[in-house]
Formats: sequence, C-alpha cells, structure tokens
Amino acid sequence: MRFCPACAAPTERRVPDGDDRARDVCTACGAVHYVNPRPIVGSVCTTGERLLLCRRAIEPRRGFWTIPAGFMEEGETAEAGACREAWEEAGARIEIEGLLAVYSVPRISQVQILFKARLLDEGVAAGAESLEVALVGWDGIPWGDLAFPTVRLVLERARAVRDEGSPLVTVLTPDSLLDRASGV
Ligand SMILES: [Zn+2]
Repeated sequence: MRFCPACAAPTERRVPDGDDRARDVCTACGAVHYVNPRPIVGSVCTTGERLLLCRRAIEPRRGFWTIPAGFMEEGETAEAGACREAWEEAGARIEIEGLLAVYSVPRISQVQILFKARLLDEGVAAGAESLEVALVGWDGIPWGDLAFPTVRLVLERARAVRDEGSPLVTVLTPDSLLDRASGV
C-alpha cells in the first residue's frame, strides 16, 4: 500500500512503536495500515452419491476443476458466503450441513473455510466464472486435473467423512452474533 487510504499521502514501510513487524505507515497522518489474511469460503456439495465440481473459466488455473469457493464478503457469515458462491459459480441451491476443514495457506495469505453441503436440487448450471459444471461420482473425481492442492485435500476429507460416517462440526451462526447491538 503506497498511499494512505485515509489522507492520500505516501506511506513508508516501518515497524510501528510497540509492534514487532513492518507495516505501511502514513508519513503524514501516522495511520498504520494492517494487511491480514483473507477468508475464502466454499463447499463440497453432494446429492446422493454424486458431488458438484466446476471447471474454472478464469485464471489462475483456467480449465481445471474445483469446488464452488471464493472470497467472503463483508456483512455475511462464512456459511452464507459458501451458499452465495455455490449459486454464483454453479447456479446451485444448497444447504450447509457442517464444517469439513479449515486450511491456512500462508504463502498466499488465505484461510479457507470449507463446508459440506447438500444440493437442494440438481438443476445446476455454469456461472460466469465456470466453463462447465458437473455432478460426478466419488470414483469420477478428476484427481489429476484439480485446480488447487486444497481442493484435493477437502475432497479426500469429504470422502473420508462419507466412508467413516464421522460427524461434521455444526456451524450455524447464532442470531446473537448477527445482532449489531450485541457489541461482539
Ligand atoms: Zn494518512
């Protein structure tokens, strides 16, 4: 961040007083601009013995297969974000069943929050960021053509949950956390 979003003056890279790492600090107003990892939300969506995959229409990894996932938006819960991404990328209406995995990827400054979801109907269709979408069996996953390492990991995890019947973590956000007046 080269210019201060608050006052437009140039920033400098330095360790602020009382901090232990370098930040972008405004040379005029002194504001410290923190950059923190961004949450990605997504889901493994199943119907019967099939699951939903999307072939990416955008870089990086255009043409490779992934699950519906993307950047969380302000003002939404992680589970609502996963539902939104499934709708945007695959026209899929889903119901979140629980948490499959949380993966930190420090190299790209991401935290990926990935759910298991149930497709409410099989009427899926490619959205703007997908070349095509498909409902594939567990034996039909294109392991050699997956877009990202975490896609492989979460699909392996989902398959293990299916095979072993292990329970998912419940993730319903309580109303008290959605209430702006609660002061959380
Ligand atoms: Zn400033």
